[in-house]
Amino acid sequence: MAEQRGTVGGPVLTAWFATPNLHTLDVYESLGGYAALRKVVTEMTAQQVIDEVKISGLRGRGGADFSTATKWSFVPKAHPGPKYIVVNADESEPGSAKDRYLMENSPHALIEGAAIAAFAIGGHQAWIYIRGEYDLPYELLRDAIAQAHEKGYLGEHPFGSDHPLDVRLYRGHGAYICGEETALLESLEGKRAQPRSRPPFPAVKGAWGMPTAVNNVETLSTVPWIIRHGGAEYAKRGTEKAKGTRMVTVSGDVRRPGNYEIEIGVTYRHIIEELAGGALPGRTLKVFWPGGSSAKVLPASMLDTSTDLDGLKALGTMGGSGGIIVMDDSHCMVKAAARLLRFYAHESCGKCTPCRVGTNWSVRTYERILANEGSEIELALLDRVSQGLQNGRCLCGLGDAAGWVIESTMRHFRDEYEEHCLHHACSVQGALAHA
Ligand code: SF4
Repeated sequence: MAEQRGTVGGPVLTAWFATPNLHTLDVYESLGGYAALRKVVTEMTAQQVIDEVKISGLRGRGGADFSTATKWSFVPKAHPGPKYIVVNADESEPGSAKDRYLMENSPHALIEGAAIAAFAIGGHQAWIYIRGEYDLPYELLRDAIAQAHEKGYLGEHPFGSDHPLDVRLYRGHGAYICGEETALLESLEGKRAQPRSRPPFPAVKGAWGMPTAVNNVETLSTVPWIIRHGGAEYAKRGTEKAKGTRMVTVSGDVRRPGNYEIEIGVTYRHIIEELAGGALPGRTLKVFWPGGSSAKVLPASMLDTSTDLDGLKALGTMGGSGGIIVMDDSHCMVKAAARLLRFYAHESCGKCTPCRVGTNWSVRTYERILANEGSEIELALLDRVSQGLQNGRCLCGLGDAAGWVIESTMRHFRDEYEEHCLHHACSVQGALAHA
């Protein structure tokens, strides 16, 4: 994948990425790395760290978009036992690879951010739960953690302080559900990865029953910059309601797919056409998923949508994990939706009936449609199943995501569904390049 910066006010997360060997402690430190952790453990209180991050306006970059400082402040201060930071480095959302990019380029930024977060909640331990397939990031993080220990930046007395800090790695098992906060905690504890009912929320009862804040890789990799430059500096970027920069992964039918750091508020047209180079030669952009396959699809006519929260919410979709999937006019949307539903049916953990049954039911319905056996009945069925999967009927977001794929493709491309179901034809198929 191509790698290129795309911020308006200058990069935050990728500012040092052009420096060779940034993954080594010496290089990271020579640029100013670990100055934030040093400042935190030697000069600041936990509350001051939370306050600084609050000023920055940083929100979680894993999809939920929740205030990071607020999440940390939910962890009870007076709890007598251990408290944990758990880093969600599972990144199994189709279309998103920005956390891998961050971990491969700057593993120490994540380690530093995780240690700062552990300090901020009054804890001593951060766990990085990393996707099982991520071999290189795993090895880089393992070596980086060892280097940080060797230098005394982690351990019993980091920077000579009396606040022990440790960061450990846990290798996940390669399932989409492991990225869901509470399923991740189950997996971390060595159990089968299935979501827990909430409440209690992880802030009160998380890993091993202890108060826990679960944060995304990108979120925590941003924290050292905020401490070094101040929350107010970070808050100058982005929009009034959505501060800062964020990483996006552009994949699909564009000239320059890759990871880009963007200032929140730029449009999808800026990202897809300017940064990622726009449509492939001779093709026209047709749709884009603005936030991984779990966000509702938008037609290319909506490319001027802003990446801020309000712009996306107004259209009933979201920026999610930052994975922007682009498809051009060679794609039939019924086939595209069928492929995604096969993925969700395969990844359903089976705990709740609407998801277990609904995803498989939809796959069978799509199979009939694509075998030219569709009718009005299949159209109505997909409508009903998609409603049955959404709106809190399932325990985790996978059910909603599956329902949204059906609903949003049907909403914007009803004509293609009707063509398949009512006329057993596909006007795209004749020229289909990537079926
Ligand atoms: S929605 Fe699906 S994946 Fe999520 S808990 Fe229920 S069955 Fe499992």
